[in-house]
Amino acid sequence: MNAEKKIAVVTGASRGIGRAIALELAAKGAFVVINYNGSKEKAEAVKAEIIAARGAAETSQCNVSDFDACGAFIKETVKKYGQIDILVNNAGITKDGLLMAMSEDDFCRVIDTNLKGTFNCIHHVARQMLKSGRIVNMASIVGIGGNPGQANYAASKAGVIGLTKTAAKELASRGITVNAVAPGFIRTDMTDVLSDKVKEETLKNIPMGTYGEPEDVAKAVAFLASPEARYITGQVLCVDGGML
Ligand code: NAP
Repeated sequence: MNAEKKIAVVTGASRGIGRAIALELAAKGAFVVINYNGSKEKAEAVKAEIIAARGAAETSQCNVSDFDACGAFIKETVKKYGQIDILVNNAGITKDGLLMAMSEDDFCRVIDTNLKGTFNCIHHVARQMLKSGRIVNMASIVGIGGNPGQANYAASKAGVIGLTKTAAKELASRGITVNAVAPGFIRTDMTDVLSDKVKEETLKNIPMGTYGEPEDVAKAVAFLASPEARYITGQVLCVDGGML
């Protein structure tokens, strides 16, 4: 492997925004570890796409909500590739419902994946990022503005923002930057399940008059993960067509 190649771990990279981030980082020369939970075939397809474009990538299964599994995943990745230079905490789920009808399980599962999963990966990866590193966490504009029907999700993303700002302060002296990207409405499987009525109402609230694409988010992540962003840390970059 090229000694200059940055090693990037992207969680939840089998589909949607994570897939676009993996492709973008690979196009910029990184070796990408494509993490997935259940979609092995889709993750392998992302790897094949990267290799077809003369990039380098590997797939790795890990449920990010499992603290010990994350530890083993990161340890194995460092053992295989020497270090991790870039961590993108992208894996996320929704379990929507109005607050009064929301089950404890739906609340906890979303927090466990979106917030605890982000903590789990940062905890294990930061230990081996000794002199420099880039961490980018996937938040959401609903973590800033709230959204009816998404108490669990909005809380998880608000938590990701607090975690980002704290980690940025704790890790700055070691040359590690920690930032968040907060997308608005991006066309992926996650938003495809919403009703046409919700989609139409949302579109009315996007000043740019169009939904975002996964690539729009990937470009912002790639910038924050690049050497050019060396003096930026603890920030939340909204990619939302002006929605917030
Ligand atoms: P998506 O299309 O549903 O893809 C979700 C990805 O997360 C999949 O690769 C999935 O892996 C992975 N994942 C889920 N649970 C996991 C777990 N426990 N461990 C490891 N991987 C797991 O979602 P998306 O729209 O691309 O969203 C990506 C991120 O952007 C999420 O954090 C989401 O909250 C955030 N976001 C999205 C939007 C939007 O409009 N789409 C807006 C704001 C923020 P498998 O395929 O293996 O299940």
